[in-house]
Amino acid sequence: MNLLIDIVYFLTAAIFIIGLKQMSSPVTAHRGIVWAGIGMVVASLVTFGAPQIHIGGNINFILMVAGIALGSAIAYVSAKKVAMTDMPQMIAMYNGMGGGAAAAIAAVELVKLSTSETASVSHDLTIQVLAVLGALIGAVSFSGSAIAFAKLQGIMRKTWRLPMHQILNIGLFIAVIGFGYLVATGNPVSFDHVIIFFALALALGVFVTTPIGGADMPVVISLFNALTGLAVAFEGFVLENEAMIIAGTVVGSSGTLLTQLMAKAMNRPLSNVLFSSFGSDDGSAADEEIEGSMKEIQANDAAIMMAYASKVVIVPGYGMAVAQAQHKLKELEDLLEARGVEVKYAIHPVAGRMPGHMNVLLAEAGVEYDRIFDLDEINPEFPTADVALVIGANDVVNPVARTNPDSPIYGMPILDADKAQNTIVIKRGRGAGFSGIENHLFYADNTRMLYGDAQKAVSELIAGVKALQ
Ligand code: NDP
Repeated sequence: MNLLIDIVYFLTAAIFIIGLKQMSSPVTAHRGIVWAGIGMVVASLVTFGAPQIHIGGNINFILMVAGIALGSAIAYVSAKKVAMTDMPQMIAMYNGMGGGAAAAIAAVELVKLSTSETASVSHDLTIQVLAVLGALIGAVSFSGSAIAFAKLQGIMRKTWRLPMHQILNIGLFIAVIGFGYLVATGNPVSFDHVIIFFALALALGVFVTTPIGGADMPVVISLFNALTGLAVAFEGFVLENEAMIIAGTVVGSSGTLLTQLMAKAMNRPLSNVLFSSFGSDDGSAADEEIEGSMKEIQANDAAIMMAYASKVVIVPGYGMAVAQAQHKLKELEDLLEARGVEVKYAIHPVAGRMPGHMNVLLAEAGVEYDRIFDLDEINPEFPTADVALVIGANDVVNPVARTNPDSPIYGMPILDADKAQNTIVIKRGRGAGFSGIENHLFYADNTRMLYGDAQKAVSELIAGVKALQ
């Protein structure tokens, strides 16, 4: 039986990796999700036969099945209902649950050890150390993700910091390591030490996350995701469960890579993300003086400009997602292409509120993948574009990132929409981008503002282009 379970775990590990590989391209991503899901179902089913969960003979199948059924039902309904713009907080919540589950496993094992005199559980230093490491990482990820969720959901302020906050965090970290050491080496383990250790670890997750600015939240969520994977892998060693070890390691390493990519795309070292309050809501950066004025354009004039262009580059951002304007955008693209206009989409790696946000929406609207270009590919093309149509994007096209060393987004690679012959910006009003700073692009001589909700504005552009036929 053991051998059979190990073989199935090995196969599910291969399925996870195949799924992950397929998720790296929008063409195969959907299939990848299905593969990974199948792997998870198979791994969960065979675990019912694993000898570890029969130890003591008191396995409660009804409770386990009821837990899985309830969790699956809640996840299914919430995933069906969630809006694309609310996806980051949903991911934060599910990551947190993974970390919490790993910490809960560790808690059960450590509490067992604290009562081992009566339960005759043998003490194994390596297992105790791994359980404590998994517990620490899982608990930090759980409480930190809960704070990330609250911030993104608007339940709590974007940043919240106490005087000498980082000193408090260092103190908490030292204390949690101290109690972790006592728990990891205790024989028997003190129950009180376990409780204090978990309370400190949960507090650490909260206090590390509260000062982090909203704009950095998706990076932090990705980091917690990686940590959750690591915690699950540690607990896999504790439970001698190969599927947990492999799945946890895969999540840990891919999450780490994603975190690095996101930090790089925002030109912010991870230490800066974790220990500064970029994106805070004090609004100071938004008050900057800019020369020039924003010049408005009517939809009809913008439509004429685009209809007679030879190349149009569309730059979608968070506002396009909010307005759900992707389908209208596709319709506009088709009309322009029918007139012989070359249309391309420029995607910034952190446009929107999560990696791949724009790609998913455009794919949903039926935009061909070969029309969609990354920052490095498309930037050299802006000077040859007659029109750059910026739709609900702001920070990712802000030229101060190139020019103003004092700007909080200085050094972040941006899409060079300002280098197009003409730039049309669709947004509702004077609202700032996620970082809260003014955008110099909107005041440039060759920029025209088309005010309105993105979906409505693109509908008007469509009507304008149709009127020319
Ligand atoms: P921004 O948040 O900078 O700007 C969005 C713009 O859309 C706003 O200026 C807003 O202006 C406009 N807008 C909002 N709703 C609508 C609507 N219904 N119709 C038309 N316009 C609308 O978005 P970007 O995509 O340019 O930048 C993403 C930001 O998120 C960056 O700061 C990035 O660093 C951050 N971020 C993203 C991550 C990711 O993974 N994608 C990760 C971490 C951070 P107005 O209110 O006037 O309409």
